[in-house]
Amino acid sequence: MKAIRVKEFGGPEVMQLEEVADPKPAAGQVVVRIRAAGVNPVDVYVRSGTYPRKPALPYTPGTDGAGTVESLGPDANTPADADAAAKRFKPGDRVYLAGSLSGTYADLALCEEQFVFPLPAHVSFAQGAAMHVAYATAFRALFQRAHAVAGETLLVHGASGGVGIAAVQLARAAGLRVIGTVGSERGRKLVLDEGAHVVLDHSAPNHFEEALAATGGRGYDLILEMLANVNLGRDLGILATHGRVSVVGSRGNAEITPRDMMGRDGAIIGMSLWNATPHELISIHAALVAGLENKTLRPVIGQEIPLAEAGRAHTAIMAGGAHGKIVLIP
Ligand code: NAP
Repeated sequence: MKAIRVKEFGGPEVMQLEEVADPKPAAGQVVVRIRAAGVNPVDVYVRSGTYPRKPALPYTPGTDGAGTVESLGPDANTPADADAAAKRFKPGDRVYLAGSLSGTYADLALCEEQFVFPLPAHVSFAQGAAMHVAYATAFRALFQRAHAVAGETLLVHGASGGVGIAAVQLARAAGLRVIGTVGSERGRKLVLDEGAHVVLDHSAPNHFEEALAATGGRGYDLILEMLANVNLGRDLGILATHGRVSVVGSRGNAEITPRDMMGRDGAIIGMSLWNATPHELISIHAALVAGLENKTLRPVIGQEIPLAEAGRAHTAIMAGGAHGKIVLIP
């Protein structure tokens, strides 16, 4: 099969398409023929060597993907599991996956069967490739970490990207009032279309005042923050009493005024998708599959790029102006 290989950490050019051996599934594993692979900022951090979690070199990037089941592993030691796996999927089934043992920027990806999920017929492979990192992160940040409940007011600070759009759709379906921020007119239209009640421009210097005004001065029960190094200090000043900031993304340090939290019984909550236990991940994806089935979740695809041009995809995702997910097509 063909796969993107990274032999040394560095710029986008270190990703090269090469011929490698097909993966073979062992017990409890599935090989998926990748029809679309999702591109995430974390893929860029890992490839550049700046991320705390470093894979052994050489490696194939990518944790998001969707396609069809190619083959299922035997399970001689635990026949009951093999039986269950065989029942859950058969070759040819449409699936998306939550992580891969071999990397998804490839024709084939080796996966743990428990982290492969059915892709409803009306959902495209590109949309399936947008499900794991973006939607599972948004779900975990909103519900598992910050305990969002219906009736609360949410600011999605950075609503036009992969995680932001997922958060807008999830929160709207769960009965929250949703205010989103974007950096472009195109993003504004998209985020309104996807269900935000109000959209603001995070490049406008007065957008915090506008954000507070959008709550009638009461403040936010919850802020999902995509760029904490820029916004965290001012986020704390627009929280409601008992408000929480769920920090999803940050690219540097931030300065805060602790009294802004103290006076509100406020909280800053860190979150990492990588800390989700297998049980939590399976629970998240049960909710996400239900959302795909009932059409409250509709992943938005910004760009489809050939797998061989993975470097271009990495440059594009870091350039900003996001309007949905970038996916690679093998
Ligand atoms: P993305 O698709 O590239 O989107 C980035 C978003 O950030 C866009 O909506 C962008 O808006 C917005 N943004 C730009 N400047 C901003 C500002 N000053 N204030 C607020 N938002 C701003 O990335 P993504 O996949 O959604 O991921 C978002 C962040 O979360 C990244 O830093 C990523 O690494 C992180 N992340 C963390 C986890 C975790 O487990 N903690 C998991 C997934 C992602 P415009 O382009 O419209 O300006």
